[in-house]
Formats: sequence, structure tokens, C-alpha cells
Amino acid sequence: MSDTEPRANWQARDGSSGRVQLQRISDPETDENPVQVAYRRLIEHCEACPTCRTLDEPSSKNKNLDCPEGKQASQAYRDARRAAISA
Ligand SMILES: [Zn+2]
Repeated sequence: MSDTEPRANWQARDGSSGRVQLQRISDPETDENPVQVAYRRLIEHCEACPTCRTLDEPSSKNKNLDCPEGKQASQAYRDARRAAISA
């Protein structure tokens, strides 16, 4: 009877935020240490990255998709923490 399938409603991703700008390794104004900087970068990446934000339905848990940038950010955070501990 109904041979007209309802069209999938494609939603355009809002890419208005653009690229995440590189930040200086230590900001004298906020007085962040390298660990805090690395952590902030990781969080900022995860908030901006569609790959890292992908959730598993219906559990709403993060799918932990493979993201090179996310991996790099979390590795940088771990390295910074290790460096801070051994310093
Ligand atoms: Zn990512």
C-alpha cells in the first residue's frame, strides 16, 4: 500500500566550531601545569570529537571508538602525569 518510504531524516553536523586550536603547552595566565594542560586538551578533544562522543545505544555508554587524536591526547595526559610523578 505504501510504496513511498519515509525518508531518513539526515541531520547535518554542526561544524561551526571548526578546528580545535592548538594551545600553548603552558599558559602563564592560568598557571596550569603540564598535567592540567594535557588533561584539558583531552577533555576538549573528547567534547569536540564526533568519534569520541559516539555513544552505544541503548546503554548510552561511550563506544570508545578508535580515534588516533583521542589516543594521542590521552597518551599525552598519561605521559605528563608520569613525568610529574617522577619529577
Ligand atoms: Zn576523538
